[in-house]
Amino acid sequence: RKLGIALVGLGGYSKNQLAPALQQTQHCRLAGIVTGTPSKATEWMQKYNIPKENVYDYKNFDRIADNKDIDVIYVVLPNSMHAEYVIKAAQAGKHVICEKPMAIYPKECQAMIDACKKANKQLAIGYRLHYEPFTREVMRLGQEKVFGAVKFIESSDGFRSGDPTQWRLKKSMAGGGPLMDVGIYAVQGTRYITGEEPITVSAQFAPKTDPVKFKDVEETMFWQFEFPGGAVSNSTTSYAAGVERLYASCEKGWFELSPAFGYGPLKGRTSKGPIEMPIVNHQAAHMDGVCKDLIDGKQLPDHVTGAEGMRDVTLLQAIYRAAETGRKINLKA
Ligand code: NAD
Repeated sequence: RKLGIALVGLGGYSKNQLAPALQQTQHCRLAGIVTGTPSKATEWMQKYNIPKENVYDYKNFDRIADNKDIDVIYVVLPNSMHAEYVIKAAQAGKHVICEKPMAIYPKECQAMIDACKKANKQLAIGYRLHYEPFTREVMRLGQEKVFGAVKFIESSDGFRSGDPTQWRLKKSMAGGGPLMDVGIYAVQGTRYITGEEPITVSAQFAPKTDPVKFKDVEETMFWQFEFPGGAVSNSTTSYAAGVERLYASCEKGWFELSPAFGYGPLKGRTSKGPIEMPIVNHQAAHMDGVCKDLIDGKQLPDHVTGAEGMRDVTLLQAIYRAAETGRKINLKA
């Protein structure tokens, strides 16, 4: 049987990506919704044939515990709300998928991991790219040293943010600016190409070109990692303009993805020619991958778990600390 997923938060990502993807999935289906907006509930019930009993709001959320139709709760709320709802979902006895960034602080990530462990339920992060063929290929090229050892990586993810009133520009809800939102992909890119954890970080905030819009969060920033195998990386994230690139220069050649992190199709090439891979729906591949393991009673692979989410959140906070202090931070300490 397909696992029933309930989406919590019916904003842009749920509406435009996850719900359509759940019409293509083989191991899961859209079974329920949690929304604070009654008009959205009506619209979604009609569009996706969701029974009234599977529709919740934030006040009666805990009652999902009694709903056997719902196996997995997928938290797609603003970043500052992830921890609270993941913990509630675990307490309701459901497996949980949580969007990136897992939370704002590592301490919250640990509480989320602990809550799922206590409930004997699994926790996955919305790391769709780990199920995406072009991304899996650059992981292999880097980690198996197909072009020799990786010497340096350039990774960048940014876009021009619109509405100045959105939660993404409020530190209390987003935890920061583009670093928390899309910079996390540029962090991940360096980690999955090397297959290593960085040992130092330096970082810089760029000057703000719109200090009113970006009064609360950074507009653009840069950071550098050193990896134990000798690779170094330089990364950019921005809400001022678009960039989406992951490039690795190795002893005997190079490879890159551009676009590297969006919903696809991704595109890649190496010093020997184009990378040819099947094009998949990222969200469907991710949810199917996670749900197949849940159905089979398998432990989820480390790269999609809360432990992985916490590694990234820990690095995001270290990047902010390095930029704020102007010091290179030793991450092994
Ligand atoms: P959004 O602003 O479009 O949607 C947020 C939803 O949360 C809205 O439906 C809003 O009504 C609801 N909400 C509930 N309480 C709220 C409150 N107090 N304040 C504001 N909104 C509240 O955002 P989104 O783009 O759907 O992002 C949601 C999450 O998904 C974020 O954590 C984001 O990082 C993540 N995301 C991931 C990807 C990906 O590719 N994996 C892509 C987009 C977004």
